[in-house]
Amino acid sequence: MIYHEHFDVIVVGGGHAGTEAALAAARMGMNTLLLTHNMDTLGQMSCNPAIGGIGKGHLVKEIDALGGAMAKAIDKGGIQFRTLNSSKGPAVRATRAQADRVLYKAEIQTILQNQDNLKIFQQSCDDLIVEQDKVKGVVTQMGLRFSAHSVVLTVGTFLGGQIHIGMENFKGGRAGDPPSIALADRLRELPFRVDRLKTGTPPRIDARTVDFSVMQAQPGDTPTPTFSFMGKQSDHPQQIPCYITYTNEKTHDVIRENLHRSPMYAGVIEGIGPRYCPSIEDKIVRFADKDKHQIFVEPEGLTSYELYPNGISTSLPFDVQLHIVQSIKGFENAHICRPGYAIEYDFFDPRDLKQSLETKFINGLFFAGQINGTTGYEEAGAQGLIAGMNAALQIQGKDAWTPRRDQAYTGVLIDDLATLGTKEPYRMFTSRAEYRLLLREDNADLRLTEKGRELGLVDDERWAAFNNKLEVMEQEAQRLKATWIHKDHPAIDQVNALLKTPLTREASLEDLIRRPEINYHDLTGIEGLGSDATNIQALEQVEIQTKYAGYIARQQDEINKQLRHEESLLPKEFDYSQVSGLSNEVVAKLTDARPDTIGQASRISGITPAAISLLLVYLKKQG
Ligand code: FAD
Repeated sequence: MIYHEHFDVIVVGGGHAGTEAALAAARMGMNTLLLTHNMDTLGQMSCNPAIGGIGKGHLVKEIDALGGAMAKAIDKGGIQFRTLNSSKGPAVRATRAQADRVLYKAEIQTILQNQDNLKIFQQSCDDLIVEQDKVKGVVTQMGLRFSAHSVVLTVGTFLGGQIHIGMENFKGGRAGDPPSIALADRLRELPFRVDRLKTGTPPRIDARTVDFSVMQAQPGDTPTPTFSFMGKQSDHPQQIPCYITYTNEKTHDVIRENLHRSPMYAGVIEGIGPRYCPSIEDKIVRFADKDKHQIFVEPEGLTSYELYPNGISTSLPFDVQLHIVQSIKGFENAHICRPGYAIEYDFFDPRDLKQSLETKFINGLFFAGQINGTTGYEEAGAQGLIAGMNAALQIQGKDAWTPRRDQAYTGVLIDDLATLGTKEPYRMFTSRAEYRLLLREDNADLRLTEKGRELGLVDDERWAAFNNKLEVMEQEAQRLKATWIHKDHPAIDQVNALLKTPLTREASLEDLIRRPEINYHDLTGIEGLGSDATNIQALEQVEIQTKYAGYIARQQDEINKQLRHEESLLPKEFDYSQVSGLSNEVVAKLTDARPDTIGQASRISGITPAAISLLLVYLKKQG
């Protein structure tokens, strides 16, 4: 049967990528369908109930700056909020929140259900309709055919999903969900490069069987940070602590004695796992000299007894899992309510994608999320938003847009994927970005909201709040420039008390804030020197922009220089062997990767600055 309605965009999969993709397309006015296995699992967190962290928090803020849902949902569903790296510079500060997974999911579902232009349909997608290299729609498990201009695939870990617990293994998309086998088979018929990856999750523990008194409590920050630029502390539900405990020699002995029963070490699992999020058996092997590993004991929610022991992801057999858990301080009598497991799944080489996340071989077909070799809700959400938005832009007949590396971590993520590909599950770190000082969590809105508004992603309420913030920032910056402290100023003694050496000539508040020993809050806390404005975000922004002005300007200069080459286009069918001086290896790498720009070419591993110069000279000669 053919469904009567034609859609502009169909998004397949209601995980983190699918949610943002569907919402973005719908916000841009596209008639959008979200087709997913199960409406009850929309917004489900497959693994640990937490959002953000180093690098990932930046992505969440960027999604929010472009009008997405993730930050709003975690503000409503977060039960412990922290600012990581709070003692370090603003570039690497990151927000992280423990989530009540039920509240998080409920908020995502509310946002989806209230989005104009968006319909949801529960059914598995088993096939794609492709005619002459153009996607035309999808076919569901019961044979229902939906037609669309564009399709965004966001099917996560479900393609050919195989779950492993010890030597037992069975098909599944994640625990409790079916895999996508028919769709995986269909995609393997298309000309994409496909491979296998794996990820894992720890056993879940019943809190009623845990002795918290022997663990270290870790409360959230006060005041609680918010994720969304539109968020308020009053959005947060009740806050509760996490706990910390450790593995010990006994735990490590149990693991060593049973390594032969690990599907990974016995060679049953072929997919490569996340290096930065290893299983406990991996940690024991790779860091054999360590006598303990930290475990964050994280509540799964306010109304749940389940705990997530972060740090002991495993695919060892259940009896070994039980021994591991009960060897740990505080878990001696623990009951496991869900076994840990590993999952292997298909992913597609993201080098077969354009920067817009449209596939290079099938027009109108976009991939986003774990299907592109990434891991993490935030990485998935950011890609989803860009894919949904670019699907919409294509329909509107407009140029695709993806933020550049100097504009957003989302740009770094997509450029890394599309240019370099990945051999292991890719997660975001601040170290992946070369312009960290500019790509801060706190300025994600300044970097992206205006563009989001132009694209149709940002609603009136956010736009008004953003403009108000800009106004307050401008007023505060002017006030700091215009307020002078001189020897007869009533606050001179208090100001001098903050300085290493007393003022010898007059100085503006702006000058003073740039001094290393001066803190904005201490200075503006002096009576008569504070701002009347109540917009904390705006004041914080002025503080950072003033304090780091020199560094920021230097980084901007570097970007401007780099940009001159970054966007020089390389012809599509370029024959690299024509460029004299390029080694065979470089020619092979460039021919394989087919970069769109000189900037992309320069980031391919093994492509030296000398090779880039040869390319530039050749292109210049060609005119
Ligand atoms: P998912 O969240 O997996 O969503 C996919 C959606 O597509 C689901 O709703 C599914 O029902 C639907 N779907 C699939 N196939 C079809 C179909 N054919 N038709 C219709 N609907 C379909 N991330 C980390 O950052 N750290 C970790 O330690 C970590 N561990 C993990 C452990 C496990 C066991 C799993 C399963 C995941 C883990 N992750 C981890 C990854 C994280 O869950 C994913 O990166 C993230 O959920 C990916 O989002 P997504 O939107 O791409 O896919």
